Amino acid sequence: MAIELPKLPYPKNALAPHISEKTLEFHHGKHHNAYVEKTVKLIEGTDLAGKDLETIIKKTAQDPAKAGIFNNAAQVWNHTFYWNCMKPKGGGKPSGAIAGRITSDFGSFEKFTDQFKDAGATQFGSGWAWLVEKKGRLEIMKTSNADTPLAHDIKPLLTVDVWEHAYYLDYQNRRPDYLAAFVGHLINWDFVNSLL
Ligand code: MN
Repeated sequence: MAIELPKLPYPKNALAPHISEKTLEFHHGKHHNAYVEKTVKLIEGTDLAGKDLETIIKKTAQDPAKAGIFNNAAQVWNHTFYWNCMKPKGGGKPSGAIAGRITSDFGSFEKFTDQFKDAGATQFGSGWAWLVEKKGRLEIMKTSNADTPLAHDIKPLLTVDVWEHAYYLDYQNRRPDYLAAFVGHLINWDFVNSLL
């Protein structure tokens, strides 16, 4: 199975003004693409060549000698997932099954958004904030650098990229403003519902 850069699920200008065309040009076209190219190069001629991304991530997650492969492969997967977590005119309160699950596991939608944004804002340095399903319950999780719930056998439902490259052109150091825009205007709840 070839590891390739997937197309964005929307035009590059579709998330503006919350995420600009310029950010998506760099983030998808340069950063995500570089992770794809490095993964392909690193697995060439190894027993991981031809394996799918999730297999590569799980096989390298606990092996310090393969950290380079893990970091790049996990970043390929995380970014593809992140693009799908957004849509134009998204965000706000969900409908469908996820709405009830959020209310029962967090108490209210507001408590969920507070915890999700807090996880993103307090992730020190580069990383990701997640909504995950763990042992049948929804939880908030944050990971550093390339780390991903997949590597811990935890099911991801939603993520936001909090590496500076995700928001610096649009928000500079104001990560909380980017997180507020993500929650208020960008989350693709249809995608989250499709994962339940
Ligand atoms: Mn990124």
